[in-house]
Amino acid sequence: MEFPIKNQVKLSLLSINENVGFARAASAAFSAQVDLTLTEIDEIKVAVSEAISNAVIHGYGELVDKDNYIELVMNLYQDKLEFVITDYGRGIANVEEAMQPSFSSDPERMGLGFVFMDSFMDELEVISEPGQGTTVRMVKMIVPSVEH
Ligand code: ATP
Ligand code: MG
Repeated sequence: MEFPIKNQVKLSLLSINENVGFARAASAAFSAQVDLTLTEIDEIKVAVSEAISNAVIHGYGELVDKDNYIELVMNLYQDKLEFVITDYGRGIANVEEAMQPSFSSDPERMGLGFVFMDSFMDELEVISEPGQGTTVRMVKMIVPSVEH
């Protein structure tokens, strides 16, 4: 069953590198309301900043434009944290190929962003349309701590 939402924060970030760090800190702040380990919070920070950095670098191609916004929606449910990152940039023609380990459209890059997102989060879903943009949805399950 789907639990009702317990908290939600929506951020709209101009697509510039400085906001990768902002989103990283925001994801940690949002995650701090639940009982997670420092490792889990670090994993969330990496996964969210990889998705935001992809939106800046690949989605909008590092062009600073007043209309280039990235939406970050953070949802808390009883059993999970959900992070949804949306850009309205170039989009990805072949999502399956893009998600392969070490695939990058830029030879200077490692092609590891999706690998981190996949291994650090419990769910990863990528929806993209060339010319329309990309949505990355990630879930971290909350494992209930034992009551003492
Ligand atoms: P790294 O993350 O290691 O610096 P990378 O960004 O190329 O390298 P991934 O994050 O795994 O690697 O992304 C793989 C590829 O998917 C990118 O090279 C790019 O072509 C495409 N991609 C990812 N996110 C987006 C996006 N938001 N918009 C358009 N293309 C994207
Ligand atoms: Mg990347």
